[in-house]
Amino acid sequence: MLENRSPARWWTETPLYLRIIGALVLGVVVGLLLGKNAAALATPAKLILRLLGAVAAPLILFAIVRAFLHARIERGTAPKLARLLLLNTTVAILIGMAVANLIRPGDHAQLTPHETHAAAKGAADPLTQFLDNVPKSVLGPLTDDGKVLSVILLAIAFGLALRRSRDTPVRTIADLVDVGFNTMLTILHWIIQVIPFGVFGIVASIVGTKGFSDFKALGIFVITVLVALGLHTAYYLIRIRLWSWPRPLYVLRGMRDALVMAFSTASSTATMPVTYARLRDNVKLREQSASLGALVGANFNNDGTALYEAVSALFIAQMLGMELTLTQQLMVVLTSIAASVGAAGIPEAGLVTMTLVFKAVGLPVEYIAILLTVDWFLDRCRTTVNVLGDINVSCLLDGQTPAPAASTSSSMAHNLNNEAIPLGDKP
Ligand code: ASP
Repeated sequence: MLENRSPARWWTETPLYLRIIGALVLGVVVGLLLGKNAAALATPAKLILRLLGAVAAPLILFAIVRAFLHARIERGTAPKLARLLLLNTTVAILIGMAVANLIRPGDHAQLTPHETHAAAKGAADPLTQFLDNVPKSVLGPLTDDGKVLSVILLAIAFGLALRRSRDTPVRTIADLVDVGFNTMLTILHWIIQVIPFGVFGIVASIVGTKGFSDFKALGIFVITVLVALGLHTAYYLIRIRLWSWPRPLYVLRGMRDALVMAFSTASSTATMPVTYARLRDNVKLREQSASLGALVGANFNNDGTALYEAVSALFIAQMLGMELTLTQQLMVVLTSIAASVGAAGIPEAGLVTMTLVFKAVGLPVEYIAILLTVDWFLDRCRTTVNVLGDINVSCLLDGQTPAPAASTSSSMAHNLNNEAIPLGDKP
């Protein structure tokens, strides 16, 4: 059966996380075998990051424009929703930064600035030259002089990606934005396909040149992110308990399908229909609260991603021995908010927008490559928190009293395989 599957097919059909784990193991082995010579293998990771950085700005642009075009928000609800989203995201980032400052995961490994950069530079000149022609941003080559090769690379990428929508009729502006957004997603999908090569290269070069010290730091980084995400989840549940009618455990039980789906797909957008349906059918929120929280929230509300970006920036700064000033930390907060709003709800989108956070505070984006090795796992965790954030906003919008139908005993019996709804705490 396996024999007639082409390698390309096998590659795309194997789940990304399995490919990344395979690349990780292979990278360790090759790094041990090659030793210092493995330094040059960091180049694919640099290339992938450069590509991710190139699609970041247009992806964010299309995602936000599209969300505005498609959202239907009733008058009066918008300011409340905006306040909730901003507050939750800010709290997420502050929790992330506090935990990262307390645990200081980056102190467990040192990087000398531009170490991997220098190693890769000396390695292969034609490759470096080629790398220089890979566009740093999508619009850049159209304005920079003399980057004809970059323009050609862009033209090929867009030509191939647009072939998929070539027969899609464009009747309205919304259709046009949809085509733009889907084209960017197609290109992003291609880049994601090659992430395992980057992981292989970066792991091999780190193991070969520095042994395992960085991995200890990465382990502590993973724990830091998990602790911060856990604290933020507690914050959500406390807010649900205090400021809305459903009880936290009842909400978690009703939403478990969506949460498990978020973890297994690493995509809050893919989970969105399930989030919406379960909020309405299981938790019994009002139609408007469910649709605003799940549908609008899924576009703008990515607290897990915001928290992750802030922790990552601090982690890499600590690894480089760079103390971020107060202004820089504030920049991390602001850009993480923007980056999480612009992150599409698809796997690895947070990595794309992270390049913006790093650039804003002057951190070298090459080091994001180090995170590639654990991102497949942390992506799942932060996506689950992103979905929990949408659930939280929906519950808070629903207020302190259940919708009339939800408070009747018949709807209780119908709910969640007859699990009792703890409405009894309301006077
Ligand atoms: N995967 C996340 C989501 O779908 C976005 C991210 O990469 O942070 O919500």
